[in-house]
Amino acid sequence: MTLEAELHNEMIAIYESVGRETGYWARRYLQRVRRVGGFQAAKDWLKPNSNPTSGLQKLADINRLDLSLEALVLRQPWSSLFTNEELKTAQKRINVAASFRLSEEVDSNQKLVEGSVCQVTINSYERNPEARRRCIEHYGASCCICGFNFEKKFGAVAEGFIHVHHLKPLSEIQGEYEVDPITDLRPVCPNCHAVIHLGGKTRSIEEVKTFLQH
Ligand SMILES: [Zn+2]
Ligand SMILES: [Zn+2]
Repeated sequence: MTLEAELHNEMIAIYESVGRETGYWARRYLQRVRRVGGFQAAKDWLKPNSNPTSGLQKLADINRLDLSLEALVLRQPWSSLFTNEELKTAQKRINVAASFRLSEEVDSNQKLVEGSVCQVTINSYERNPEARRRCIEHYGASCCICGFNFEKKFGAVAEGFIHVHHLKPLSEIQGEYEVDPITDLRPVCPNCHAVIHLGGKTRSIEEVKTFLQH
């Protein structure tokens, strides 16, 4: 069997693993794999301007990004079938999806305790993948407080990883509200994000910037 044919089978196998382990059956993924073949489907999904596979965020939420197509193509021997550009796209999407999970809005009743960030419920405004994507597209993936950039510090393995902070405290939001990615969200690094919310507060970006000078 060719490597491409093996990849096709593997892509169907991950569909089944995801369904069994998470209850999420990605039918459109399966249809596409069957229609154009796994190899071609993967190439299409990894075009820079195409959308990540729809289940990626679901897998990030349950900490099983290892079951994603993006993680699959990064593993041997499959990675040899893809270009550097495609592998970079896969890595970046995994990083962006992983940063949702860690990107927390802490409401005023919850304390941000070091190390507990992952257990805090994520605010739905910061979870909205489209809003996040547009925020990062507009402001870039560097922290808007200290300028930290994961790719610059850690290289391609961390490209695109950043928290997104929602400026309005949850307590001030009433009724129907639609997040505006440009006015309501800012990219912040996890350290600055922690300081914004330290003590259960929602400090302004400007206030935290003034702390930095100390
Ligand atoms: Zn920062
Ligand atoms: Zn926040």
